[in-house]
Amino acid sequence: MRIATWEDIKAGRVTDIYFQRTAEILQALEVHKTVTADVTVSALPDGYDWAILTGVNDVLSLMEGLNVDVDILPEGTFFRRGDPVLEITGDYLDFAVHETAILGFLCQQSGIATKAARCRKAAGDRAVISFGARRMHPTLSPVIDRNAYIGGCDGVSTILAAEIMGIIPSGTMPHALILILGSIAEATKLFDRIIDPRFPRVALVDTLCDEKFESIQAAEAIGDRLWGVRLDTPGSRRGDMARILEEVRWELDIRGFQHVKLIVSGGVDEKEILELNAHADGYGVGTAISNATTINFALDIVDIEGQPFTKRGKRSGRKQILRCESCFESTVVPRSYPEALLDCPCGGKRIELLKPGTRGGKIVMEVDTDSEIRSFVLRQLEQVTL
Ligand SMILES: [Zn+2]
Repeated sequence: MRIATWEDIKAGRVTDIYFQRTAEILQALEVHKTVTADVTVSALPDGYDWAILTGVNDVLSLMEGLNVDVDILPEGTFFRRGDPVLEITGDYLDFAVHETAILGFLCQQSGIATKAARCRKAAGDRAVISFGARRMHPTLSPVIDRNAYIGGCDGVSTILAAEIMGIIPSGTMPHALILILGSIAEATKLFDRIIDPRFPRVALVDTLCDEKFESIQAAEAIGDRLWGVRLDTPGSRRGDMARILEEVRWELDIRGFQHVKLIVSGGVDEKEILELNAHADGYGVGTAISNATTINFALDIVDIEGQPFTKRGKRSGRKQILRCESCFESTVVPRSYPEALLDCPCGGKRIELLKPGTRGGKIVMEVDTDSEIRSFVLRQLEQVTL
């Protein structure tokens, strides 16, 4: 399998060649300049107003041992267009060849966590499960599912990712089970008989017949033990999904199966979630999360030997982000700013978002657990709108 190892990444071998050539020239000239470079995004995908930074620990591990100082937003911090999310200070030669990997760690993971958070926000209290690992290279499944989870998904479908995070993987039943056993009633009964009773019984009700009739058959097969039904209705049969859900709900309710929840999967994104919320109790989200648009960060030098200096289209100088703990508004200020700026016009107190990540090659930022990061994301998510 042609994948880069951690050793390849750490050694700068995944770099774009032009960084290595730049380093070669600077080394030949013996140019050693202390610079500060920061990472910002000039536009968020689809006009998003906010995004979430993830991949922080990977960047810190990459920077560990290098003679540079890193300031960074803690994992899971919300930010906006133009905010410096990471700042590296040191001899440019010490980190030049790591730019490709730094951006790669941040762009994809932040994109996934941000999309998961948007789906979470759209779904309100309804369940959102990450089902999209199959869309991406399997070596990335723990990366995808972790970011989906810390972004706000309630569960993830792959075993390894769940194991690493110390959570129970979530799943229902595939069409294969129903096709092999011949009917939804049989598949539901056998699932109930054989699978550990701790796991919810969710029947997949779009395989052979209409969703309504298969839902009734599944409910009649195991009664109170049926937790929910999942509608993965193929695109060719979809028509009006909200109407289908409404009808399934009616037919289950009229037979006394009010407890059975309705889960929708198959091409679900935040837009469908908003449309189906009136009838659905939860969602399995695949491609929309796993293949989320990347956050296209750029790393640029903003200061050379203590003097503000940068390219066109970018603000020079070292910076800090101040965020009000009351109204959640944030502002980007020069690194040296008057203390009065810590008072927000709303009356609240502002705090600094960029925090020390590494000092003298050592990681100084504490690592929170995945569920702590997820809670941090969910608290911030209450402060923003879609
Ligand atoms: Zn405020």
